[in-house]
Amino acid sequence: MIEIKHVSKWYGATQVLDDCSTRIAHGEVVVVCGPSGSGKSTLIKTVNGLEPFQKGEIIVDGISVGARDTDLPKLRARIGMVFQSFELFPHLSVTQNLVLAQVKVLGRSQGEAAARAASLLDRVGLRAHQDKFPGQLSGGQQQRVAIARALAMDPIAMLFDEPTSALDPEMVNEVLDVMVDLASEGMTMMVVTHEMGFARKVADRVIFMDVGRIVEDCTNEEFFGNL
Ligand code: ADP
Ligand code: ADP
Repeated sequence: MIEIKHVSKWYGATQVLDDCSTRIAHGEVVVVCGPSGSGKSTLIKTVNGLEPFQKGEIIVDGISVGARDTDLPKLRARIGMVFQSFELFPHLSVTQNLVLAQVKVLGRSQGEAAARAASLLDRVGLRAHQDKFPGQLSGGQQQRVAIARALAMDPIAMLFDEPTSALDPEMVNEVLDVMVDLASEGMTMMVVTHEMGFARKVADRVIFMDVGRIVEDCTNEEFFGNL
């Protein structure tokens, strides 16, 4: 599903990814952890073309991300991404946040997009808030909207970049619970997180990064086995 082959990236003279290789199979959940500044965020953003890279190759569902002729907007539409800072459109209602890209990018009708939005808002427990604006919701609620918005595009995989790091502690679990459900339904997921309880529960594999390199890439049992 996702193949990362010998990817290196530099910002000017500073190398931030150093010969990173891994593969994520269909339905697999991979947690990426490691110290701050080790390149976790940069690595997952290369997967949907948000971060260019200078060396190596990334293939997502048979499409080469770095190739000149790749239709990046189309690829991005198929890979859901959830950021630390929600990134909802503040001037759009919750429903409109979910409808917009379905109509603009996928060409769905308003009615079809609204129906899909309603069913996803049900699923993340926010149907009652569908007409509110993001600023009227808690951080945990906003992040659940962001996940629903990504799912509305029927993604082939989901990328999460520290999805709970900006949340008050009491809201972390409501977001992780949605992610646990997604994982159990077989979604292919790559998750940058410091939530080791979550990793232990749902990760098939754990990747540990340090100074731009993948220094561990092991199964859940290998990573947590002797704790
Ligand atoms: P992590 O997600 O593990 O905290 P990042 O991928 O955000 O790490 O960052 C990896 C390294 O790249 C850090 O040293 C960071 O300072 C650097 N970096 C990130 N973005 C930029 C940028 N736009 N320009 C220069 N350096 C950057
Ligand atoms: P994240 O971990 O989500 O990437 P960061 O706080 O690391 O968030 O970075 C926020 C923004 O600043 C990003 O756009 C990143 O590319 C940029 N950035 C991070 N480190 C540097 C750096 N050393 N020099 C320039 N830009 C940076």
